[in-house]
Amino acid sequence: VPELPEVETTRRGIAPHLTGRLVAALRVRDPRLRWPVPPELETVLPGRRILSVGRRGKYLILELDPGSLILHLGMSGSLRVLPGATAPRKHDHWDLLLEDGQCLRMHDPRRFGALLWSEGPASDHPLLRHLGPEPLEPGFSGEHLRLTAGRRRCAVKSLVMDGRVVAGVGNIYASEALFVAGIHPGRACHRIALARYRRLAAAIQETLRAAIGQGGTTLRDFVREDGAPGYFALSLKVYGKAGLPCPRCATVLSHRLIGQRSSVFCPRCQR
Ligand SMILES: [Zn+2]
Repeated sequence: VPELPEVETTRRGIAPHLTGRLVAALRVRDPRLRWPVPPELETVLPGRRILSVGRRGKYLILELDPGSLILHLGMSGSLRVLPGATAPRKHDHWDLLLEDGQCLRMHDPRRFGALLWSEGPASDHPLLRHLGPEPLEPGFSGEHLRLTAGRRRCAVKSLVMDGRVVAGVGNIYASEALFVAGIHPGRACHRIALARYRRLAAAIQETLRAAIGQGGTTLRDFVREDGAPGYFALSLKVYGKAGLPCPRCATVLSHRLIGQRSSVFCPRCQR
């Protein structure tokens, strides 16, 4: 599942090929994504210039002149920049054709991805309006987590996976960061002191930055016809490793469902 580092790596991979270009056409082969691709886009987009390629949480935002295209990779989506004449494969649902003959192509076997439109700034769109601070920007901190937790009794893992609290931290990085910070994922969030939330905020930033750094080596795959989607093998400490030894103390890693999501943790290192 593409998480924030994959989305940021995608942004860095495609941005140099899109920024400043005019949109020539949108070619939709299958509009049935998580939400249907708005039918008016095929007439609205041609002739508009792409001013920038940004990211908010796990959303990619193509700021046009005027308007904003909002993209989500869903469970299995990937984007690449290819010559517009390249034959589509199965699950290549749409192409955004550019004036220079290249196209941005969306591949998404499970079709949980999205292509949405906002006439105004993307931040006004209902999906983005209530997002919390970006984890790698100054508005995010241990103080922010402590304040937001307040007297809430939910599990701390559910708190950090809530996009209204912090944008774009999914199951993988919530699990990894809680391990690094030594906090049990099921601990009630009102029972965690500020010092521990500071460690957690730092751990979230550290794990995301490390993953983005790993992704940097795959950037060329975003513009190769033969390339794989361009994601990278992550070096993870606990996510997906239930039953294996803890990398710190060798205790067998446990797992439990928290907020409907599988959570792996070390019963000894995480309290
Ligand atoms: Zn351990």
